[in-house]
Amino acid sequence: MKIKKGDKVVITRGKDKGKKTSVEKVFPGEAKVLLTGANLFKKHLKPRGEGKPGGIIDVGRPLSVSSLALICPKCNQPTRIGYLLSKNNKEKTRICRKCKNQI
Ligand SMILES: [Zn+2]
Repeated sequence: MKIKKGDKVVITRGKDKGKKTSVEKVFPGEAKVLLTGANLFKKHLKPRGEGKPGGIIDVGRPLSVSSLALICPKCNQPTRIGYLLSKNNKEKTRICRKCKNQI
């Protein structure tokens, strides 16, 4: 997964297109991420007794990583991610393709 928790992203498809937000949780198996305050759907809650009256709440649904572009924290632009291999080829470092900084 190229996207990590805490990354700043911009949504490139769907109803929240153009919205900038950050990644709250990643689901590597599904290539999906949960974003802060984006891709929200109304959920109806049933009353569950005292103090829990029920109602309608907004619930964020995971969004496919193909609908996102990472915003580089260094140059502040939507970018693609490249990888740099360490000398022993064991570690990969993410780099911004635009400014070449590590991210
Ligand atoms: Zn950059």
